[in-house]
Amino acid sequence: MVGKSPSPADLKPKELEAVYAISRAVALSEGINQALDDIVNLTRSVFIFDNMVLYLVGENETLEPRYARVIGRGRSAEANLAWGDALANDVYHSLETMTASEQLDGWQEDRLASRFFLGIPLRLTEGILGALVFGRFGGPPYSPDQTHLAEFIASHIAQLVHRQHLVERIANLEADRRLSQLQHDFIAMITHELNTPLGFIKGYATTLLRKDTTWDENSRLEFLTVIDEEADRLRELIDDLLDSSRLQAGTLKMTFEAVRLDTLLRDIISRVQSRSDETPPRLVIKSSPVIQGDPIRLAQVFDNLLSNAAKYAPQAPVTIILEANKEQVHIIVKDEGPGIAPEHLDKIFERFYRIPDLQTAARGTGMGLFICRQIVSAHRGIINAESEPGKGAAFHITLPLSQPSVIKPGG
Ligand code: ADP
Repeated sequence: MVGKSPSPADLKPKELEAVYAISRAVALSEGINQALDDIVNLTRSVFIFDNMVLYLVGENETLEPRYARVIGRGRSAEANLAWGDALANDVYHSLETMTASEQLDGWQEDRLASRFFLGIPLRLTEGILGALVFGRFGGPPYSPDQTHLAEFIASHIAQLVHRQHLVERIANLEADRRLSQLQHDFIAMITHELNTPLGFIKGYATTLLRKDTTWDENSRLEFLTVIDEEADRLRELIDDLLDSSRLQAGTLKMTFEAVRLDTLLRDIISRVQSRSDETPPRLVIKSSPVIQGDPIRLAQVFDNLLSNAAKYAPQAPVTIILEANKEQVHIIVKDEGPGIAPEHLDKIFERFYRIPDLQTAARGTGMGLFICRQIVSAHRGIINAESEPGKGAAFHITLPLSQPSVIKPGG
């Protein structure tokens, strides 16, 4: 067993220089792996070793190798982990620097079969973080001076790991803070979105029920239409909320079957046509592919894109193009509305994201495109948006084509 606290007074000038360069690398490092690479390179100039493995305490209080570097002599990092484990554990539990050696069969002829290891605990005043193990093949064994130098290097690595832990903790705290802010904003927004239709329903229903007034048939019809539409809106909001949380939790059920996309799109367009007097989208069918998919969820994606086009590009022509090659289907839903600025193109697929300027213009929750992307991903597809602001927005969906099914004779 070896070990006392490292002191710079015991180091030679060249070693001091290397240790100083190592402290600088630790201080200036941006990422732990890069800093460890730098430390290994700087250490090599003053300390002979063939490999170095850093073990850190994992979640179950067990040591796990987190970084391994092999310098040479034909060894793979994986093979060397086996010897490092035992020594790392001994060092970790004893809190002492330790050496170990082993001579494999034929070590007299093959110097690689004679191995010397040095294990150093990674200690801080706060506690022990893990162990650092150096391996050297063919000797010489580690001298007290070299052990000392290695302890110095280990103390720098301990600082580095400690700093990384702090950075991670801060990032987690920041993520928690952002999450709680997001939840707060979400509750405020959802309350507002649910209250708006509810306010209309309650207001018009109360008005209709007033005993002191009689309403003519037209007014009654108008009020009931508002109630009906707002109840639909409420249902839509609740469905979106449920879908969105099920998608997030991975519990949204999909039922896959063979789907003819041209038929699906035609059905959607006739539904749109029957619902409003606006010009229906133009459908360009260049191919009639069959895919494996959930027809209800796929229809939901196109319904959403079309209702967005109606909301954000009112009165503008909308075109749907369906094309396919041997491997995939490509569907484009494009409008000739105001379009989307480049900085928002990716973000609009995030849950609750709405483009700030448009927020007041059209009602919505920012869940639609998030749901679309999740559904398309569940079909192993991709959805993204392209836009030339002022000229319109185009949503591109690519879906893999199903393998042609083999029809068995008599089947
Ligand atoms: P919502 O419509 O409920 O706000 P979505 O997730 O469907 O939520 O859309 C996110 C945002 O993307 C919308 O708030 C809108 O700003 C923008 N957007 C979506 N479709 C279009 C479009 N066709 N043209 C311009 N902006 C769009």
